[in-house]
Amino acid sequence: MTDWRELEKKYYMQTNIRIPVTLVRGEGMKVWDDTGKEYLDCVGGLATDSLGHCHPVVINAVTEQVRTLIQTSLWYFTVPQVKLAQLLVENSCFDRVFICNSGLEANEGAVKLARRYGHLKLNGAYEVITTGGSFHGRSLAMTAASGQPTMHAQYVPLPVGFVNVANNDIEAVRAATTDKTCAVMLEPLQGEGGVNVADEDYLKKVREWCDQKGILLILDEVQTGICRLGPLFGYQLYGIEPDVISLAKGLGSGIPIGALLAKEHAAVFIPGDHNSTFGGNPVTSAAACAVLKYIIDNDLPSRVTKVGQYLMGKLAGLKEKYPFITEVRGRGLLVAFELKEDIAQDILMECLHKGLLVNRVKPNAVRLVPPLIITDKEVDQAVDILDDVLSGIKI
Ligand SMILES: *Cc1c(COP(=O)(O)O)cnc(C)c1O
Repeated sequence: MTDWRELEKKYYMQTNIRIPVTLVRGEGMKVWDDTGKEYLDCVGGLATDSLGHCHPVVINAVTEQVRTLIQTSLWYFTVPQVKLAQLLVENSCFDRVFICNSGLEANEGAVKLARRYGHLKLNGAYEVITTGGSFHGRSLAMTAASGQPTMHAQYVPLPVGFVNVANNDIEAVRAATTDKTCAVMLEPLQGEGGVNVADEDYLKKVREWCDQKGILLILDEVQTGICRLGPLFGYQLYGIEPDVISLAKGLGSGIPIGALLAKEHAAVFIPGDHNSTFGGNPVTSAAACAVLKYIIDNDLPSRVTKVGQYLMGKLAGLKEKYPFITEVRGRGLLVAFELKEDIAQDILMECLHKGLLVNRVKPNAVRLVPPLIITDKEVDQAVDILDDVLSGIKI
């Protein structure tokens, strides 16, 4: 049998310490490795496989489009791109859409849009306030925007124009705002930073502050969008309307696509300002259309809210049972539990051994971001395996 792990070590840039398993097939909540072993997948392509693995609606949409028209360029009208923009607008508070290929590309677009807005309406203001612990992507600009200093040192000098302040602290946002500020950019709930839930009224206060100052509020919903927290978009959970959001992860249920959504007053790009060769490609757009239609037709927002609460309740039960779990947190199907010691990797490996995929979001925190289609029974299965693994831990 081919040793794919050895070949990876030889040929691939070593950008990742991988989990020692080669996945070859997926269906719904399950994946299989190259030895035929089955796993219940509570990582879901890192919150991307919203409808699970290889969902028929995604397969059909992609297959049909691949047979019809794969790629044109940004110079022509194409049908799936327009349909996707319409679907996103009709189901959100936004007026205009730009489609791209990834989360960081959507965020780059959002920051360029905010700078354009600053040039046009705020006397050239260009600074964007971001928060500690945030993650916005891995381009140079998004590395600078992300509030994760360990990502910075090896790439200095980084692009300027980002001011990082403490998370969940409205006073810090106010203090950092100057006549150079054009926008505040936040995740409604920080995903990569460790599943950090902000106070209920923090986003409301930031919204009010941005209104007062005439600056834009950008929400990075790359992870929180597409029902990850329950509602189709994370902002709906917090009762506010941002000016701009970015989407990516769950939008194509594993097919790579991102999007930038803006209200009319903020959609200030004019022809020539911004573009993307593959952005809004017919195939990826057709996939995202199918995903959104499925989500809406099957009322996944209600389903995710319910099953998310069920999962949180079950994890709270584990916390009762195991005092070394210090906290259970999250919303919808973006949840984590924190541990007294840095044993998240050990738990991950034991779960892997027992047929469950979970994610180590911090050395001492395990994250679950399963596909949105997870059933109560599958939650029980996952929690039973976790229980089994945790019962073997001695600290
Ligand atoms: C994953 C993520 C990104 C980066 O998305 P890519 O598609 O990997 O570029 C940006 N912001 C948030 C909040 C994310 O979770």
